[in-house]
Amino acid sequence: MKQNIEPQNIAQRRHRILEEIESAAKKASRNPDDISLVAACKTQTNEIIIEALAAGQNTFGENRVAEAYEHFMAQATPRPELRMIGPLQSKKAEDAVAIFDVIESLDRPSLALAVSKAMQKLSKQPKLLVQVNIGDEPQKSGISVSGLPQFLAELQDKYDLKINGLMCIPPANQVAGPYFALLQKLAARHNLQELSMGMSDDFKTAIQFGATHVRIGSALFGERPSL
Ligand SMILES: *Cc1c(COP(=O)(O)O)cnc(C)c1O
Repeated sequence: MKQNIEPQNIAQRRHRILEEIESAAKKASRNPDDISLVAACKTQTNEIIIEALAAGQNTFGENRVAEAYEHFMAQATPRPELRMIGPLQSKKAEDAVAIFDVIESLDRPSLALAVSKAMQKLSKQPKLLVQVNIGDEPQKSGISVSGLPQFLAELQDKYDLKINGLMCIPPANQVAGPYFALLQKLAARHNLQELSMGMSDDFKTAIQFGATHVRIGSALFGERPSL
């Protein structure tokens, strides 16, 4: 059957993902233009990055500052929107502020302090999302659900940081819908616009619950090369 054949290249896979985003949006009575495809490109080679750029992909999510440099600063590529989606060490905050348009993984006061200092020093203001540990998993980064209100207040009052939205990674091997619904509720409660949620396996569900940014790796690039 035709639709079970895996498309072979990035342009074809991207095209299919965009179609799936569009149909999921329509099903949820949403405008597909309100949903951005973020290419989660950890471990991909520069050749693959160039292929994705050539296919028209203009938003990328990076897990590590050094890898973002490698992918986008060390070669003369067109400059896409770069989003930090991985855990960020405070000592890397300045490098991150220097190159990212958006930092999605703000999740603790010490990092907020480092980011706000870097923003002042570099006179640069990346958009900021707060990562929420939506399943309250001990091993996962993100502010706890119960700690979110105080953290948001502190970001505003103490660090003068404007927050654009929330990001989460739901627990693996569980139905994701309830976690996406919770993040949507938290964003609405705090009047935040951007919702970064949904990956290759669950982005259609995330769109149903209001995702504005879906972060997609393997469905776009194929299975990741193991490290
Ligand atoms: C790797 C990664 C993704 C993409 O995961 P896939 O399942 O390959 O789509 C999304 N978000 C974050 C934070 C990631 O680290």
